[in-house]
Amino acid sequence: MKTVWNRGVTYMKTIILAGGGHAHLAGISKGILNNLSEARIIMISPSRYQYYSGMFSGFTEGLYQEEDIRIDLQALAGRHRFTFLKEQVTVISAEEKAVYTDAGNRYSFDLLSIDVGSSQKAGSSILPIKPNHSFPDSIRCFREGQAPVIAGGGAAGVELALAAAAYRRKKGMKAPVTLISGGPLLSSSHTNHLQKICSAKGVQVIANKKASLTSSEALEAGGETIPFSGLLWLTGPEAPALFKESGMGTDEHGFLSVDDRLSYSDSIFAAGDCAAISSYPKLPKNGVYAVRQSEILWKNLIRSVHGEALLPFEPQKRYLAILSTGDREGFLTYGGLHYHGSSAWKLKNVIDRRYMNSF
Ligand SMILES: Cc1cc2nc3c(=O)[nH]c(=O)nc-3n(C[C@H](O)[C@H](O)[C@H](O)COP(=O)(O)OP(=O)(O)OC[C@H]3O[C@@H](n4cnc5c(N)ncnc54)[C@H](O)[C@@H]3O)c2cc1C
Repeated sequence: MKTVWNRGVTYMKTIILAGGGHAHLAGISKGILNNLSEARIIMISPSRYQYYSGMFSGFTEGLYQEEDIRIDLQALAGRHRFTFLKEQVTVISAEEKAVYTDAGNRYSFDLLSIDVGSSQKAGSSILPIKPNHSFPDSIRCFREGQAPVIAGGGAAGVELALAAAAYRRKKGMKAPVTLISGGPLLSSSHTNHLQKICSAKGVQVIANKKASLTSSEALEAGGETIPFSGLLWLTGPEAPALFKESGMGTDEHGFLSVDDRLSYSDSIFAAGDCAAISSYPKLPKNGVYAVRQSEILWKNLIRSVHGEALLPFEPQKRYLAILSTGDREGFLTYGGLHYHGSSAWKLKNVIDRRYMNSF
């Protein structure tokens, strides 16, 4: 077993944070670790940098630099008194209360908090965007290609298609970005408006057709063969293999089952995309909810250390969502309302910059 220690300091508990995801980071940025001075905190994540998907579209379009969209976990560890280990958790042993990593190390914990995010469909012809540190290189390759194609017409697919199209227009690249959606774009109430925006901005939409890969250079949708130079597969989050491989309890999709206190067991908690909250099986997996869960996750970790009763997470019913549509315009939705224009992008830019400046 590898020992992580601080000279001369005796800790009562060791808390391992598996994954540098937003449910962990949002609490840390607010100084929550000041309430855990008696515990040793170790974060294990495979990259020194955690990327912020809220700014992926702006990076794709060329509005933000790579430094703007990532959080330096090593530097954060220095500022907030935790140990950062650049390793990937490969197995969790609930029985041993230990995690194993790709570096061949074993770390024991009193409490484990898991925020490893979701995975994606993998394949040699699909450009990877998960874990999220693979995003910048994949996008640099994707946006320059002759025939960039995105499968998946949800928020992520629509945003990145429009962002790549805006980038290409600025560079004088004529060939369109193709977006294939198995259903209507985003949702049935917004699809017509979004289709118009897409066709005005150089995105060729193939809606209500499921895409399937036929070779390493082409896919098929509705009987049509669509060649691609680069392919992004954004049909929704998939479960990380970690939980099945560790023999842990999951929902039917493979996400870790937790109760509404974000608790898997007395010593294991999880939040963000990787967790399936049994009382809210339809809760969307997005950054908004990962950040919302952060508050209860941290309160419950602190309560566990102090032997106090845990609190339930109660998701809000509505939330503000703003998709960047390219050229500093945004598509804002709140409940059934929507608005498209430059004010929406300006608001999104302020919210995203403020979040990143909090680190
Ligand atoms: C293109 C795109 C755009 C998006 N835009 C938005 C948006 O505008 N707004 C929004 O709310 N949501 C958005 N989302 C969804 C959002 O990215 C996720 O829901 C959110 O990042 C989930 O946060 P998380 O904390 O669960 O995990 P993540 O942010 O994915 O973080 C997980 C962390 O765990 C690390 N990790 C992974 N595996 C392991 C392991 N085995 N061991 C240790 N560490 C590990 C990863 O490296 C990463 O640092 C977007 C998604 C995509 C794909």
